[in-house]
Amino acid sequence: MRPVAHEAYELLLASLGPQAWWPGDTPFEVMVGAVLVQNTAWRNVERALENLKQAEALDPHVIHGLAPTELEELIRPAGYFRIKARRLRNLIDYLVARYDGSLEAMRQRDASQLREELLAVHGIGPETADSILLYALHKPVLVVDAYTHRIWSRHGWIDDEADYHRLQEEIASGLPDDAQTLNEFHALIVNVGHHWCKRVPKCHECPLRPLLPEGGPCEHL
Ligand code: SF4
Repeated sequence: MRPVAHEAYELLLASLGPQAWWPGDTPFEVMVGAVLVQNTAWRNVERALENLKQAEALDPHVIHGLAPTELEELIRPAGYFRIKARRLRNLIDYLVARYDGSLEAMRQRDASQLREELLAVHGIGPETADSILLYALHKPVLVVDAYTHRIWSRHGWIDDEADYHRLQEEIASGLPDDAQTLNEFHALIVNVGHHWCKRVPKCHECPLRPLLPEGGPCEHL
């Protein structure tokens, strides 16, 4: 029997098509977006990124040289702007100190070493670190999030208490180890979370409905 993660992936790709993630003109823009998107909608991130572009500040060395208040003002539309400015600054301090601001130099290192380094940056958690590894650096690392947890749990594929790493290992073991598949997989799951697997699930219209166990969530509503 094929792993459920792979079945879900094929079903979603056939119904929804490629998602063309992650939006961003450069790997550095993707990296910055991965920090700004914490706890906010993407449209707010776009406004913050636009401010950085207008100020010609979407560059590691330029951000590194900004005063804290200048950076806060530029990213204000993304919300939680003081916290995010600190996190972004921590990340860029690391990028400049260790890789002279070059994502290309960073990409030469292996994924597990980079993951450890990113997780050591204050304010960078597993989901942000993995998003940077996958979407900015094209490393074959699976990103999981609250939507993934909700979908896996509602289908009875994992227990509610599973943490980020257990969920990640469980799903990644059923998917090919290649960045393009993992990129699409996460984007497809987020699409399902946005449109169907909400707090009140819309199973009747959802492309993952064929994989729902008998007595799945909608039957209890
Ligand atoms: S079928 Fe229902 S439980 Fe499954 S992903 Fe869709 S909305 Fe969520």
